[in-house]
Amino acid sequence: ATPTAVMVATGVGAQHGILIKGGDALESAHKVGVVVFDKTGTLTQGKPTITSFQHYGRRPPHEVLSLMAAAEENSEHPLAGALLSYARKATQEGPKSAASEHGVKDTAWVKEAEGFEAVPGRGVRCRVGGLEVLVGSRRLVEEQGVEIGEQAGRHIQQEEARARTVVLASIDGQLAGVLAISDPLKTEAVLAVEGLRRMGIRSVMLTGDNWSTARAIAEEVGIEDVLAEVLPGGKAERVRQLQADGTVVAMVGDGVNDSPALAAADVGIAIGAGTDIAIESADVVLMRNDLEDVITAIDLSRKTFDRIR
Ligand code: ADP
Ligand code: MG
Repeated sequence: ATPTAVMVATGVGAQHGILIKGGDALESAHKVGVVVFDKTGTLTQGKPTITSFQHYGRRPPHEVLSLMAAAEENSEHPLAGALLSYARKATQEGPKSAASEHGVKDTAWVKEAEGFEAVPGRGVRCRVGGLEVLVGSRRLVEEQGVEIGEQAGRHIQQEEARARTVVLASIDGQLAGVLAISDPLKTEAVLAVEGLRRMGIRSVMLTGDNWSTARAIAEEVGIEDVLAEVLPGGKAERVRQLQADGTVVAMVGDGVNDSPALAAADVGIAIGAGTDIAIESADVVLMRNDLEDVITAIDLSRKTFDRIR
């Protein structure tokens, strides 16, 4: 393609809210064989809401919720925000709120956490009033030797099979609470994956979430290839593994965790509503936040570069 053709294509992209940062990215896009999608905030809306809460042991539910809130107050993870607003609702809206049956009644409901520590890809840990509090994935609490038990184990499996992300809380080494969290697919996600398939392009889902939840969401969206329980540092490595046989790989992501993978991909595509660091690391930015624009971008590249063959 001539420099003029590349310029024209970049302009057409811009008209669709597709920011293409250079001719190299535009060229690579026509050879893409695999598109890797981050799950949370890319395929899903990234607006997690809590759908159920169960407490275990003899601590009352409002106390468990308040300890979980104390632990999450220092976290910047999207799940932390969902948990905090769920617990807060119980105090502010009284008996009408969804969480009221587990109402956190005390106005000073969030206690002070000490020794807060974020465990990447797993959750958070801290001490609250001398109690050891862990909040995060099943893997996080199990690694600390917390016994899940049969009843809770069954409940967790059921929720995961329904595509819910499950967050567990342990207090002083005892399982104390299980939250199920739903984060629905973006409306156009199925169409984007189907459209890519029709272009002969394979879609892969990449996530730090657990395997069962990831598989359930992948099935909803029509993706067969799933890479789950990938720690934040491991996402770029997975992209490189997919590239190892010469496959040209595009990666679509929105999060801080995704930026090394966006940089490693042949074509890094960031969601415009994503974090600044993801947008900086990407070659292409989808300003309309529409996953179908992945198809538009590849199409544009094919039209620009296949013509001269
Ligand atoms: P993703 O790839 O979906 O962005 P992350 O790597 O951020 O996932 O997190 C992976 C998993 O770790 C989450 O699904 C959740 O189970 C757990 N997790 C991470 N941070 C937190 C937190 N602050 N609170 C609760 N759970 C967390
Ligand atoms: Mg994400």
